[in-house]
Amino acid sequence: MTMSIVLAAAVSQHAPAVVMPAEVCLRLVETAQEMNRAGLKGFGLLTADASSAGWPPTVADVLFLDPQKNHRNDAEHRSAFHAQGEYFRQYDDAGFVADSTELLNAFRSAEQAGQEIVAPFHVHRRQPANFSSIDYRLHNPNFRWHLIVSLRDPDQPVIQPFAVHKPALEYGISDHDDRQGSEFPYDGPEVQPLGLVAEGPDSVLRQLSAVVNPQRIAVA
Ligand SMILES: [Zn+2]
Repeated sequence: MTMSIVLAAAVSQHAPAVVMPAEVCLRLVETAQEMNRAGLKGFGLLTADASSAGWPPTVADVLFLDPQKNHRNDAEHRSAFHAQGEYFRQYDDAGFVADSTELLNAFRSAEQAGQEIVAPFHVHRRQPANFSSIDYRLHNPNFRWHLIVSLRDPDQPVIQPFAVHKPALEYGISDHDDRQGSEFPYDGPEVQPLGLVAEGPDSVLRQLSAVVNPQRIAVA
């Protein structure tokens, strides 16, 4: 029997909730925790079956990109991150840049599996599960939503999806920027929290409930 738990409450009755298989959600959180223990920032992509890649979002699978191929600290990107504030000069794992070849391969393998890439996700190793100013600037406007996993307390993960309606022109960061506080929440109307519901067999939901922050869980 398929049951569900709410991992993030919808902000309003009309706001959609992302639906994710409990097994995928468990793999997402446990892999993120494993990478975090190894001192690495997790990031990657969420897919949907091509036939159901609509709205509200339904997730089919999670693809982690290789955190060892994070280009955040390549000279040309590092200086742009440093221009986003003291926090980005202090922590060299604040922000990430995916490898373009790996991204292309991920799109190809999703297509071969009859899936579509529907959203990016990334882990916050110190910050709460907010969608920050820099997350907004770096968000690819082709995606309608983005998922954050906060491991500020690694044993109490918090997962929060956000709807992001971003004009294509507002894209990227540069070493000519001179910003502060880019790690704090983006407060524009383009970003709205979404609900998150995990569905699956009772046994997997129990495992998931034991791993994610139990205070955030309500029975659906
Ligand atoms: Zn972020």
